[in-house]
Amino acid sequence: MAASDPTGGRPVDPSGGALRPLGLAEARITAGFWADRQRVISEGSLDHARAWMDKVGWTANFTIGNATGPAEHRGREFADSEVYKLIEAMSWDTGRRPDPARVREIDELVALIGGAQAADGYLNTAFGRPGQQPRWSDLAWGHELYCAGHLIQAAVASTRVHGPGRLLEIAQRVADHVCATFGKDGSTGICGHPEIEPALVELYRVTGERRYLDQAALFVERRGHQSLPPHHFGAAYASDDQPVRAATVLRGHAVRALYLAAGVVDVAVETGDTELLRVVAAQFDRTWARRTYLTGGMGSRHMDEAFGDDFVLPSDRAYSESCAAVAAIMLAWRLLLATGETRYADMIERILYNVVATAIEDDGRAFFYAHSLHQRTPTRALPDDEEQLGFGGGPRAPWFEVSCCLPNVSRLLASLSTYLVAGDDEGLRIMQYATAAFGTRLPDGRRVALEMATAYPDDGDVTIRVTATDGGAWPITLRIPAWAAGATVTVDGVTEPAGAGTVTVRREFAAGDEIRLHLPLAPRFSTPDPRIDAVRGCVAVERGPIVYCAESPVAEPLGDLDLLRVDPARPPVDDAAGGVAVWARIAAPDNRRWPYGDRHDEADEPPLAPIRLLPYHRWARRGPTTMRVWLPSV
Ligand SMILES: [Zn+2]
Repeated sequence: MAASDPTGGRPVDPSGGALRPLGLAEARITAGFWADRQRVISEGSLDHARAWMDKVGWTANFTIGNATGPAEHRGREFADSEVYKLIEAMSWDTGRRPDPARVREIDELVALIGGAQAADGYLNTAFGRPGQQPRWSDLAWGHELYCAGHLIQAAVASTRVHGPGRLLEIAQRVADHVCATFGKDGSTGICGHPEIEPALVELYRVTGERRYLDQAALFVERRGHQSLPPHHFGAAYASDDQPVRAATVLRGHAVRALYLAAGVVDVAVETGDTELLRVVAAQFDRTWARRTYLTGGMGSRHMDEAFGDDFVLPSDRAYSESCAAVAAIMLAWRLLLATGETRYADMIERILYNVVATAIEDDGRAFFYAHSLHQRTPTRALPDDEEQLGFGGGPRAPWFEVSCCLPNVSRLLASLSTYLVAGDDEGLRIMQYATAAFGTRLPDGRRVALEMATAYPDDGDVTIRVTATDGGAWPITLRIPAWAAGATVTVDGVTEPAGAGTVTVRREFAAGDEIRLHLPLAPRFSTPDPRIDAVRGCVAVERGPIVYCAESPVAEPLGDLDLLRVDPARPPVDDAAGGVAVWARIAAPDNRRWPYGDRHDEADEPPLAPIRLLPYHRWARRGPTTMRVWLPSV
């Protein structure tokens, strides 16, 4: 296979599949909800993360042993990977908009990294030097291949935005060293934390070098044979309990399982292994149906950052790591491109608006690691300059001992424009709605361009205008989300109903032609599958793609949210202040009441009154608060 367009600006660039992704140069978010968040990343998060990585010594790790470098490695064993993820985010960001100062910063970081590479290509700051553990001596926990994977992904991003350069050379030397060490005739080990798998496939896509794809396929097939040392988390923690082809669901550490599955899709697509693709798609289907929160968040076990068993989805112990959201979007996007099945775009939308948008503080300088759906005790205010050791919950913090989530969310948001529209055999498919502009070529070479204008998700009206076309008929396909009952599409003044799934408009478009989509956004109750015991008897409120929550700031208490009861017979309504109102009551607490027995006496409970809910992604932005998504019924 020939190498893909090296400067196409696509985070994922499969050589086959039902849909063809657009690159950064073909897709721009120009205003609105996601433009605001892209700006926050550009102007806040990237500098903030860089400053913290300097402060805690992660960038200086690359100069260990130099005359001016530190004597010892600082941070966790995977700290290199955060620097790489930050470079990846910076690369996509500079592909999104010109920023010569940021490009210089990337070049400086790349020079720093290159200086730490050994003569044989090995590169990791935590292993192999005098006083450190030997290379590849702790595959289960050392994260060496994981770090190599993120280095490769950074190089892929840099290459796809700026063309081949020094970082690609460094990454290829690392990858060649990995192939030499772990190839067919080498060590049969695997990394405790998958990531090298999708990275090697993307490096294959960039360079056309088949050995990287073969190595990724080897890593996929080697997993699941308990080759990693036994651990009290169990072999499932690293998806090493069952061969990939035998597993029926994602399990263990959520981010590990999702990264692996993303790499499995990549291998399946590039090798034409339809059975492998079917298996991993079925694993994700079951995971989505049984192991995913209403928000699209994944992972319900704090101890090992892991998926729970089917339907173990407690709100107050939700783990739902920000990185698991990024990883789930990586997987869903790959499955969408491979299969063309629109439901994957519904999943991406749910995760984006309810986990990714929740993760980052409004100034981009603090973030959630875990995403509780029920905060029983008020969140704490955190000082701006304090690193958080615990990363299992709590408020958005400026930095954590493990700070994977901020650079991870940053690399996704910086490249988000490429997840909105994809090309199919004949035309374009609009998968996400945002104010944006697109210009690309159809498979037959004709040039087309679109503009999309909307106040989504506040408003459900979207106007898609053709701004350029080389003529002839071609189709535009719109995703109709599963929740959008009563949606309509208007073309040439004719309005037609649009059911869930897709609607295709095919014609000889002329510049100026418009398609108007209307997605009804009336707030609605959602009820959980009764097998999710933790929230049985509760309802949640959604409006369009947005999950709502009740929040009680300490400064202006609404009441004890654990005593909130909502009337499910009275539908939620939009309120004047941009929120949603439900009819509910909050009883006074009684600290002496035995919590078990016959039906509780409700005689003293206050009457029902409207209570305001707000988008879940807006919670914990008004000081210490309690919060809940699932609301018990009266
Ligand atoms: Zn994370």
